[in-house]
Amino acid sequence: MLTPRSGQPAPLITCILPAYNEADNLKEMVPLLCATLPKLSDRFEVLVVDDGSRDATEATVLKLSEQYPVSLLSLSRNFGKEAAMSAGLDYAEGDVVIIMDSDMQHPVEMLEVFYQRWLEGYDMIYGVRADRSDEGMVKRKLTRAFYHMLSKSADVEIQPDAGDFRMMDAKVVRALRSLSERKRMMKGLFAWVGFRSIGVPFKVNPRFSGETSFGIRRLSSLALTGITAFSSAPLRIWMFIGASVSLLAMSYAVIVVLSTLILGTDVPGWPTLVAGIGFLGGVQLLSVGVLGEYVARIFSEVKGRPVYLISDYRRPVHVESQDKASTKDASSV
Ligand code: UDP
Ligand code: MG
Repeated sequence: MLTPRSGQPAPLITCILPAYNEADNLKEMVPLLCATLPKLSDRFEVLVVDDGSRDATEATVLKLSEQYPVSLLSLSRNFGKEAAMSAGLDYAEGDVVIIMDSDMQHPVEMLEVFYQRWLEGYDMIYGVRADRSDEGMVKRKLTRAFYHMLSKSADVEIQPDAGDFRMMDAKVVRALRSLSERKRMMKGLFAWVGFRSIGVPFKVNPRFSGETSFGIRRLSSLALTGITAFSSAPLRIWMFIGASVSLLAMSYAVIVVLSTLILGTDVPGWPTLVAGIGFLGGVQLLSVGVLGEYVARIFSEVKGRPVYLISDYRRPVHVESQDKASTKDASSV
């Protein structure tokens, strides 16, 4: 079948694995990947981004790299998954780049389906969670509410059930590299860059070993980044609340004037006064808080610190020796 990408040489595939304390999982994940990727192309590499792990992740990857084409990119500390993925994207050399979790939650079988889509001409293929029954009710409800709010207010459409499990063409990677913002929600940025995209449903596996590092604190901080980075609706809401409160206050003033004129003066109204002052104080503090959140984001962007820092970058041993071998071959011809 003639496809938009047929007739091109076999692409180099880079699979990025962000990893934070994933030694046990990587021992399973890397061999599995290296058994699957050759079905797509004979040129592939795995790039593990060690996000400041405190376990044996680094040693495990170095050991694996003796046998498999695995590179290790070590960040100088734990910067978070968003930064780890950005680092991986900056260093990925592939014509096709995959991002997936290191904990075996993203099924490698899906890569063949993704790749088929890429051959058909799609530039970004993302996994869509077929069901979220593995998550608790509260988390599911909160996630739904968050995406509902975001879809109403954001300037791009962010798919609710899509995650970071993706395959993308090198041109999408180049586009992502050109984005310089520091506080990142990659899912939003993936949506923002556009390109021919398609979602493919998949079922999330249970975590192979260890525990998730996305607790309620990390998730809510990511949600806040998502909202402030892709929508200014929270700022606008306060304009409407302010306008409504002023309108109410004005109507109340009219009532007070009229009742004084008609019924004469007496000095009640103390509770109304206190309630009014308290309410307005609360509303003002809240709105200043929302404003502060955006100012904090501006502050962090203006400081211009890098998204991550690299402490080490190691290419696989046998790739280096292969390179040497091929140079030798070339020189001996
Ligand atoms: N991860 C990371 N840095 C972090 C936290 C997580 O690179 O600070 C990686 C982690 O190793 C895994 C992926 O991000 O490969 C998803 O993390 P996790 O499984 O904890 O999250 P969940 O699957 O619950 O969303
Ligand atoms: Mg996980």
